[in-house]
Amino acid sequence: MNVLAGKTVKIKTKNYTIALDGDCKDTDYSFLSHAHADHLFKTSKKVVCSDPTCIISHLRGKSIVQEKSLNNIELLNSAHILGSKSLLIKEGDERLLFTGDFSTNTRGFMKGFKPVRCDTLIIESTFGSPFFIFPDYEEEMKKAKDWVDDNIRKGYLSVLMGYSLGKSQELQYYFKNYNKSVNENISLYNKIYEDYGISLGSNSLPQNSDLLFTTPMRTNNNYFNSLRRKKGLRFAVFSGWNMIPSYRKRFNADAGFTVSDHADFKGLLEVVKKSKAKTVYVNHGNSETFTNFLRTEGICAINL
Ligand SMILES: [Zn+2]
Repeated sequence: MNVLAGKTVKIKTKNYTIALDGDCKDTDYSFLSHAHADHLFKTSKKVVCSDPTCIISHLRGKSIVQEKSLNNIELLNSAHILGSKSLLIKEGDERLLFTGDFSTNTRGFMKGFKPVRCDTLIIESTFGSPFFIFPDYEEEMKKAKDWVDDNIRKGYLSVLMGYSLGKSQELQYYFKNYNKSVNENISLYNKIYEDYGISLGSNSLPQNSDLLFTTPMRTNNNYFNSLRRKKGLRFAVFSGWNMIPSYRKRFNADAGFTVSDHADFKGLLEVVKKSKAKTVYVNHGNSETFTNFLRTEGICAINL
């Protein structure tokens, strides 16, 4: 198998070519790892993806036709969001893994990504710098729970900010026994999670709620600015970027918790080492830093 670098990375196998998280004119198929907006694309080709990814993709206005007949591939749970997958292609004795966005942490209803053996690894590196070593997930969420409980005792409404697809449902699941509500944008995706048996128990009316879930981008509008001025609201961000002090300030939040749906530096390194791959391709985020680090460890690494 050959890895073809470019704006969209492609894999050439004996019988077909496949583009990774993108569309290319000269490939037979595309693979879509998950349905976050920065990964979605329009294509007339058949797409290898999970059923939830296909459903969310349609909901987000990118109609795709699923390909289910390729028999030398395996889709592995990547523990990023509902339906997110890594792609394992097998050809004879050769194995190639494209991780897509992934997390090695088990979070609520999602079991962490398990490293697999392969000859060629293509790995994301959003947090591929040694600076990004996250605190223990359960401990960090316990801190968030204590913060929410303290707000409730004081009569404040906690506003939890996270992306509408993925992070928000993960947080709602953690706080499933609380009296909580979500904005319209989030409830759209909640429905798909509920359809797949993940009970979140939120309603869409903020009255009488102790918690309100919203997206970070939506809090710098007039509605939230007026709410901010009223006593009784406390805002928190949940992101791996929370390790950078300016992140919390950017959203004018009262609290920040380092909780991510991506692997941290340690998780990335674990997946590389356990794969025993002869060649490691690195893409996204801190790819240069991560590539250089892998080279100092004697690993053949290529920055895509
Ligand atoms: Zn993503």
